Amino acid sequence: PATKTFHSLRPPIHLPQEDAPISVVDYVLSIRSLSRWPNSTTALIDSATGRRIPYSDLIRRQKSLSYYLQDVLKLSRHDVALVICPNCVQVPILYLSLLSIGVVVSPGNPVSTGSEIARLVELSGPTIAFATSSTAHKLPKLRLGTILVDSPEFESMMTHTFDLDLNPGLGPTQPSQSDVAAILYSSGTTGRIKGVMLTHRNLIGVVALCRSSAVAAGERASPPVLLYTVPLFHVFGFIYSLKSVALMETVVMMPRFGLDGMLKAVGEFGVTDVAMAPPVVVAMVKSGSAERYDLSSLKSLVVGAAPLGKDVIAAFKAKFPAVELAQGYGLTELTGPVSRVLGPKESKKWGSVGRLYGLLEARIVDPETQEALPPGKQGELWVKGPTTFKGYVGDPEGTIDNMVINGWLRTGDLCYFDDQGFLYVVDRLKELIKYNGYQVAPAELEQLLQSHPGVADAAVIPYPDEEAGQLPFACVLRRPGCILDERSVMEFVAKQVAPYKKIRRVAFVNSIPKSPAGKILRKDLRKMVLAPLLTT
Ligand code: AMP
Repeated sequence: PATKTFHSLRPPIHLPQEDAPISVVDYVLSIRSLSRWPNSTTALIDSATGRRIPYSDLIRRQKSLSYYLQDVLKLSRHDVALVICPNCVQVPILYLSLLSIGVVVSPGNPVSTGSEIARLVELSGPTIAFATSSTAHKLPKLRLGTILVDSPEFESMMTHTFDLDLNPGLGPTQPSQSDVAAILYSSGTTGRIKGVMLTHRNLIGVVALCRSSAVAAGERASPPVLLYTVPLFHVFGFIYSLKSVALMETVVMMPRFGLDGMLKAVGEFGVTDVAMAPPVVVAMVKSGSAERYDLSSLKSLVVGAAPLGKDVIAAFKAKFPAVELAQGYGLTELTGPVSRVLGPKESKKWGSVGRLYGLLEARIVDPETQEALPPGKQGELWVKGPTTFKGYVGDPEGTIDNMVINGWLRTGDLCYFDDQGFLYVVDRLKELIKYNGYQVAPAELEQLLQSHPGVADAAVIPYPDEEAGQLPFACVLRRPGCILDERSVMEFVAKQVAPYKKIRRVAFVNSIPKSPAGKILRKDLRKMVLAPLLTT
């Protein structure tokens, strides 16, 4: 029945023919030519140095670098390039260059440890890496080595053909839409981190979605100036770096995030929109220093990657009445955006993550009976559309078979739609923990904890936290006779993982509830351990 499948209420979106031989970069550049902003518009600003790169320069740099990667380094279609860089102006140019010649871009978190990066390498099999002088030491030796994007050599790779009339990217290595374009990392609904394969078609779909919402929001009098506090390796920043070029927005890059630095940059560069995860909204609400900065240019915040509490929204609205707060919802396995709040009218629906983007359909499915439910009823959100990922690299556990059923992707999120098509995220059914918007896979921490000689068994669940959203919380069953305290558990894990994955709370338990098949019963554990803690 029609009420059981939710269709987008946004205007329809037209994608290129599926068999048209174009890459996402061709698509981005073709949309760009529709823009009313001149080529002299600034594409990128480095917030630390104030250095500006206009669009004319960005395009020339992208072409020059593509030429170098293809003709000098001999990178070719289907090669994988690992990118381990903090946000910087070189990265969007690097992404465009790699994608234009069909090289698969695989960006990882720059704060990862050496062994975490080794795991990414194992999953995606890169032939080359791009890093900065602060991250390169953590990379293993790859066939074509590591290139430093903050080196003079990289600068000359981006500029060496400026005098030549070369047009790389249109040569023999032209990718097709069904090619894998990127491998991002996510633990999905269960287990450890996996490589999420996204195709050029997936990326084209998402750029088209983003463009349609920009069109629906109405033209601005001058080019929007965006500041990303979201990292470029996460699907949010990755997609934004493509859509901003397609829309010829100016992007302010903050290599190192700090609240005061962000607020200062808003005034300094006339920032109109900021892309962020909820903890930054919390920080803005709590900060006593916001009044000291000129925020008059700021029009909207696009907030996604984790839930944003209603109380925080209320406090934000009271403190910054002129700034629109637009929530968006998405996930890596759907190439990012699924729904968003658009415009001042919709942003009055506090707590909603907005309406479905065009191109997408959704169902709310009863987790027990698999029945599709009508508006107002809570169930697991299933989504169908051209942005559904191709699969996990290797996929040893056949995870995708449980995740995509007849083209419907199971998000692992408990949601409902109201009768006007607004989506609400209620809870997370999947294992995933989000600390400051970053993914933490419980299975990975459990494996580490279980390797401790004093630990008989362990499970990791999320602990609610006002600022970070959730904290990784370890429930530990000690080996009989072992003396093990909270601190030593936390230190044991902290030494082996990136800071955002640290265990920040520990409880010692007498048993870990498990199914007959040995699966941790997280819901029962939450009830058993968490409920008493939260009520006291
Ligand atoms: P990632 O693949 O890292 O983007 O993580 C996707 C997951 O983050 C989703 O499945 C949700 O559990 C959560 N998430 C993303 N955006 C939101 C949001 N606006 N509200 C609640 N949860 C969100």
